Amino acid sequence: MLNIAIFGAPGVGKGTQSALIEKKYNLVHISTGDILREETSKGTELGLKAKAYMDKGQLIPDELIINMLEKKVDENINAEGILYDGFPRTVKQAEALDEMFKKKGLKLDTFLCLSADHDTLVARLLNRAKDSGRSDDADVNVIENRIKVYNEQTLPVADYYRAQGKAVEINGIGEINDIFKLICSVIDNAK
Ligand code: AMP
Repeated sequence: MLNIAIFGAPGVGKGTQSALIEKKYNLVHISTGDILREETSKGTELGLKAKAYMDKGQLIPDELIINMLEKKVDENINAEGILYDGFPRTVKQAEALDEMFKKKGLKLDTFLCLSADHDTLVARLLNRAKDSGRSDDADVNVIENRIKVYNEQTLPVADYYRAQGKAVEINGIGEINDIFKLICSVIDNAK
């Protein structure tokens, strides 16, 4: 089973590339943000709890996310592979993912680390707000907070995987298809 994580700041293009990767490699795409938005729209207990954090651009507590993620992995344990998008977002989540893989006899095959400069991220998110209907994309203050939270709490996750030799740096600025080709060569190498 192939396990790939796609990582980077909000607006870096994780969702766009995930859709292409998922199709080409027949992977199950687990986006923690998408799951949380679904839970919120269904009005579940988890969704209602998560909404308060999401509206402010803050991270949902690790325990809630880790349990939710493991449940999704268990549901898809017979898949050809899983693409993790938006997870892990803290070092604690990365450690929990490693633990979970160990328990299930799995491993992370590659950690795709996309990057783009601050102004590009803000411009892309504001542009995405026109179609996404996401209130956290439409408010510059929330966007700035999401980027701040990313720099402070999420970026250390990249170092965690660099130390394991699993991180591959990818420039998130450029033509979607050029970036995708680069990603495919990384995945083909990791398989
Ligand atoms: P995203 O769709 O990945 O941009 O995530 C939207 C929001 O969902 C984030 O701003 C967080 O509030 C929450 N979220 C998504 N994934 C995680 C995660 N792995 N850990 C904590 N919060 C998360």
